[in-house]
Amino acid sequence: MPTNPALVVHGGAWAIPDDMVEAHLNGVRNACAAGWRVLERGGSALDAVEEAVVVLEDDETFDAGRGSFLNRDGKVQLDAFIMDGSTLRGGGVGCVERLRNPVRAARKILSDSSHVYFVAEGAERFAAEHGIALCRNEDLVIPREVERLREYQAQASNHGNDLFAPTISHDTVGAVALDRDGNIAASTSTGGTLNKAPGRLGDSSLIGCGCYADNLSAAASTTGWGEPIMKLVLAKWAADRVESGSLPEWVAQEAMNYLKQRLNGHGGIILLDAQGRFGIAHNTPRMAWALHTVQKQEAGIKRND
Ligand code: ASP
Repeated sequence: MPTNPALVVHGGAWAIPDDMVEAHLNGVRNACAAGWRVLERGGSALDAVEEAVVVLEDDETFDAGRGSFLNRDGKVQLDAFIMDGSTLRGGGVGCVERLRNPVRAARKILSDSSHVYFVAEGAERFAAEHGIALCRNEDLVIPREVERLREYQAQASNHGNDLFAPTISHDTVGAVALDRDGNIAASTSTGGTLNKAPGRLGDSSLIGCGCYADNLSAAASTTGWGEPIMKLVLAKWAADRVESGSLPEWVAQEAMNYLKQRLNGHGGIILLDAQGRFGIAHNTPRMAWALHTVQKQEAGIKRND
């Protein structure tokens, strides 16, 4: 009996301002539609999360691909990961500067390499050798982000510890999917945090931190302040609890409580198991998400009011 497919995507968790809500909703809806087209025609969960993330990377609303936050030097540096829950194969890139769609390179690593990670120039070289066109870093930079960095650097001393300041946004993107064969997959892609030090790697592309998938437990993608998330290996933490029998809906919320209580971290998570049960949770004011199952199709800027 074929499994009913399911797909959940997110477009970051933070205090998304009212005037950016529509763009976020459109973005996650478009990504969900692209991933669902793959699942509907019997495609794999892995292909579905890749296609969904490509749409989000191409959308300048989000901190992934073109339009990402700039690092301290004014450059875009991207991290991405993709994982197949049926084989536990994964592919990741970190600190790449010349790839429009880092998830495409991550997928090539998963499919064509015996390694799991390539970073910086080595990752770009791997991508180019596998037929992925390189761009210039300037092609990924947009005026909005040049201005955002300028403002941030001008006021750096005022930011203090206000991690919910509008400038501290978390627009990382991700997707988790279940296909007709009962396999799950996950992917996460990001430009990281605003004004990050060059070479800083976040949680998003780290296996088990920002992304994880195992048919025996769950597929997870996180977003938020990366350092606390990686210290808690949060995606794997959540998947392990699903494997022990807890419902993804409950585990997703517990993961956010754990993040807050243990390290005063903030962020969001999407979680899906091989039976199609899912959870969406965040401890930030808002999180952009969309889901598509056989029964329902929804998108929202989930609020914690
Ligand atoms: N988690 C990402 C990072 O720290 C940022 C984000 O989710 O927006 O690189």
